[in-house]
Amino acid sequence: MFITGMRQLGLAWSILSGRAFRVQDVLALADDVRATLEEFGSAGEGANDMLGPPDPEIQQSLTRRRLRRTVRNAAQHTPYYRHLFEGVDIDLATVGPDMITRIPPTSKQALRGMPSAFVSDRGKPVLAAQTTGTTGTPTTVWFSRYELEITAATGALALMLTNGLRTEHIWGNCITTRSIAHYLTERSITLTGAGFVPIGPVDPQVALDRLATPMHLPGKRPQITHLNATSSYLAALVQDAERGGWTAADFGLQEIHVGGEILTDALRERVRELFDVPIIDGYSMTEIIPVAGQVCGHDHLHLPVDQGHVEVLDPVTLEPVAPGAVGSLTITPFVSYRDTTTLLRYVTGDLVRVLPEAQKLGCEFAAAPATSRILGRVTGSQLTTKDVLELLHGERVLPLPTRYALEETGSAGATVLHVVAERASRKLLARLEERAADLALPLAGIVLVEDPADLPTPCRVRADLREHTFHHNIPIPAGRNA
Ligand SMILES: [Zn+2]
Repeated sequence: MFITGMRQLGLAWSILSGRAFRVQDVLALADDVRATLEEFGSAGEGANDMLGPPDPEIQQSLTRRRLRRTVRNAAQHTPYYRHLFEGVDIDLATVGPDMITRIPPTSKQALRGMPSAFVSDRGKPVLAAQTTGTTGTPTTVWFSRYELEITAATGALALMLTNGLRTEHIWGNCITTRSIAHYLTERSITLTGAGFVPIGPVDPQVALDRLATPMHLPGKRPQITHLNATSSYLAALVQDAERGGWTAADFGLQEIHVGGEILTDALRERVRELFDVPIIDGYSMTEIIPVAGQVCGHDHLHLPVDQGHVEVLDPVTLEPVAPGAVGSLTITPFVSYRDTTTLLRYVTGDLVRVLPEAQKLGCEFAAAPATSRILGRVTGSQLTTKDVLELLHGERVLPLPTRYALEETGSAGATVLHVVAERASRKLLARLEERAADLALPLAGIVLVEDPADLPTPCRVRADLREHTFHHNIPIPAGRNA
């Protein structure tokens, strides 16, 4: 226990100072916590404080220190920023959150165009993570062993101490196995002692079958207990499960983790009806690792402040937006977690609304700052992705994952929504038009198409990152009313 205490102190010191962690200490601490949980069932008094936010005043000075260290490091050691800072009037010795707006934000295009210019001279790149963005050419982000180990170990601590993951659990991962998220999740889960099953985004019927199949493993629950998927893949699972007559009783699921795309209220409701377990809606992206957010019971997105600096910028002017307004999440991951690909004020393109100033947070994550949930991506249309998907996920006749396209017509600002339906009928169209009117969506019309190829622009979703298997004609177990 004395050793654990010393490691805790070491971790706390790194967190507080914003300096690099000692990888072996954090890994050993994750191991200590796992062993303690196995033996005593709880991590002991004060364990949760390891990851909890300190009081707001300490927090402010911490943010200032971490940010200064991060900016200084980028300005001195990263080619892109070294060049950029030649034209920026900023004192690197005193830079803080108030001055950071003088640094021009970093666009996705800049990183995509010259990924190596963002790799620190002092970085030790070992793994190239390519984004699986559905919107264009992939972006490459290089990670060092240090970054991978620290992110995995702190992730394991969070899973054990905050999410209650235990060695008896089995985690089924349905995200693409080519992603850094898959790599890090596998590493974190195995550090907790829980089981990890890399299912990948395979044919949803294969995934349902794997989720339902008993495992017969010593010290483990009989079936997969945790499912991790993107929203569109989860939607595909829901559709196949509904059509196949599966029910919650067929599975041993205890929790579903979803991220990477917008989870609508309507889809969340359908997932709940089917699987009857809590759904953890998370937010992260390859470029901003380890910064990650989670949606609370009051539908805010909370982004803890200790892993990166969070801003919300107007998509056009790139100035900070006022409370109540919509802007793009802009993130600066702190140097104590990211020493290789360094990014300052990275504009994610994911839109959120800044909460009204007067709004007091009364939710379970109130200690961490919050915005609205992700509303979609910057498109130039008045409509957000979430608006459109809420409308379409509410209509159960439409196939999942939902495919649509927005078309700007000649007259100023008039948007036509094209939607893929299995059978385009007048009745379905009328229902969608009525609901769109109820929701006051600024649409000039809705067009139903039966073939995705007939959409004016292709609709790509993460569920399309399908991985193939040799499973064929999976027999449907007796008793299921397929
Ligand atoms: Zn909240």
